[in-house]
Amino acid sequence: MTNNKKLIIAIDGHSSCGKSTLAKGLAKHFEYKYIDTGAMYRAVTLYVIENNLHEGKTIKEEELKKAFEEGKIKISFQYNPETKKSETLLNGKNVENKIRGIEVSNLVSPVAQIPFVRHELVNLQREMGKEGGIVMDGRDIGTNVFPNADLKIFLTADAEIRAKRRYKELKEKGQDVSYEEILANVKERDYIDSTRKTNPLRQAEDAVLLDNSHISIEEQLQNAINLVNEKLK
Ligand code: C5P
Repeated sequence: MTNNKKLIIAIDGHSSCGKSTLAKGLAKHFEYKYIDTGAMYRAVTLYVIENNLHEGKTIKEEELKKAFEEGKIKISFQYNPETKKSETLLNGKNVENKIRGIEVSNLVSPVAQIPFVRHELVNLQREMGKEGGIVMDGRDIGTNVFPNADLKIFLTADAEIRAKRRYKELKEKGQDVSYEEILANVKERDYIDSTRKTNPLRQAEDAVLLDNSHISIEEQLQNAINLVNEKLK
């Protein structure tokens, strides 16, 4: 279902509340491009881990900055026609599975609060989305990356419900995690993301709030499709 108007749709919200499920569903329905900005912060975090640029949760910022300046961190996406899914590439290598693990999840918010990291990735995101016809999900899309987005949705759900969903998802992928660990991670990321100085997570004034604690994926998608159709009129 296409329309000549090529909207920019921003989906922000708390950790693990199904932003990417909704964003992918909308992108498929309207034949738009989907851009997962969380994957970009996760890819930088993987670079930090693989190059030992951290001590615990403290990031070696000078060295990370140098790596960016020297062009050593290149992030892109590619569509895999076999799996029909988009994959995140770090320096040309498919890192889609690695960036979803708990090790990256535990370090990503400290990395994402560094101003130069945000600056680099936000520039890239604006470039990727400037033609419109995109659904972009993250934490600061409606407030900072595309403050003039045509539609802004802010998603949330109870932390326990989010942690249960994420736990199930990771277990199904065969990862060795505990529910308590996931819940702690979800809460910690929400806290760091919403209290950081640079572009914190918050609902844009003109965003539509959707709480999906007690509605199905299909219902949520239909609600969002209706919102987009309103904008396309
Ligand atoms: O969306 P996802 O949970 O994969 O994002 C991982 C982390 O990346 C978030 O917890 C947040 O710290 C960071 N992030 C961000 N800004 C975005 C997208 C993600 O700070 N636009």
